[in-house]
Amino acid sequence: MKITEVESVYLRIPDLDAERCDGTQDTLMIRIHTDEGIFGYGEVDSVPLVAKACIDAPPSHSIATGLRSLLIGENPLEIDRLWDKMYRGTIYFGRGGPAMHAMSGIDMALWDIAGKKAGRPVSEMLGGTYRSKLKAYASSLMPDTIEEAVRLAGQFVEEGYKAMKFGWGPIGRDEKFDEQQVRAIRETVGADIDIMIDGGLVWDLKGALRMAEVYEKYGVFWLEEPLHPENLADYKELSRRTTLRVAGGEQESGVTAFRRLIEEGGHDIVQPDLGRCGGLTEGKRIAYMAHERHKLVVPHAFKTGILVAASTHFAASIPNGFMIEHTASTSPLARELVSEKITFKDGYVHVPDRPGLGITVDEAVVEKYRVN
Ligand SMILES: [Mg+2]
Repeated sequence: MKITEVESVYLRIPDLDAERCDGTQDTLMIRIHTDEGIFGYGEVDSVPLVAKACIDAPPSHSIATGLRSLLIGENPLEIDRLWDKMYRGTIYFGRGGPAMHAMSGIDMALWDIAGKKAGRPVSEMLGGTYRSKLKAYASSLMPDTIEEAVRLAGQFVEEGYKAMKFGWGPIGRDEKFDEQQVRAIRETVGADIDIMIDGGLVWDLKGALRMAEVYEKYGVFWLEEPLHPENLADYKELSRRTTLRVAGGEQESGVTAFRRLIEEGGHDIVQPDLGRCGGLTEGKRIAYMAHERHKLVVPHAFKTGILVAASTHFAASIPNGFMIEHTASTSPLARELVSEKITFKDGYVHVPDRPGLGITVDEAVVEKYRVN
């Protein structure tokens, strides 16, 4: 089997608002073609056209090469070797950042091909399905008003969710308002629903400590990215002084960065984004590194159904996975790009058992939103 083309397609909604921290407004979809007629799909979470350049750029020299030229003619089933080839070929401009983001989407597409070729779901291909269903949490930007937060929380409960996360938006502007919001959400959903808060890098250590005390009172399940991702010393101090689980990692790529989060930052839960961290191949290395240190992994996924499917297979196939993220975004890319919906019932998703990622990309949606 041979790779005949590596296509990256920039999709974007017409009314994109770059002021919002909402990654579902555009995406870079990867489609790898093979000489056997099997296509593999993947997705990159980055600045789409920067990641696309990392794929399409012609070779400059042996360790400064666009990814496409490294892959044409290769056997797509040799995933570990191709991962290493891409990593070495991008040493000058990679090892993280957009080149690693681009590698992530390509790696995802290679696993999709491997699963389709073998007639097995990606979760099985990754080493085995630990669980056939996973708790899905509804993931939303924190609304600007308490009324809207209460309405959304009520809607998620009605839809069957047993867990929900609110993040960014107004969080961090006013501590009293932040407390009123989390109290109102807790009163709306009752005691048995997990609530998570994503601080969106907004506090310093003292602010995070004060808010951690507040969130402890309302039984918050985890506090995500309260501090700047590079402020590992303060993360460690925060972790030492709160009973809240501290989560983070969506900004990181590569197992070394995630090891630092746990060992130097004291993170309890790491959140690799499979469209950014190095793909399913590196994601698995991250998961086992975390497992060895008795830490949990919940993949970050705020994009289209391609990333949601990859994240579902991933979380099912690692010993320390238990939950996945469901964006509440109404963007047509998040809602319509993948035509098969993953079964969601009573707060849990059922891991697809179709070959590969188990998704069908709606070509009409691709044509409607493609920019290149
Ligand atoms: Mg986050």
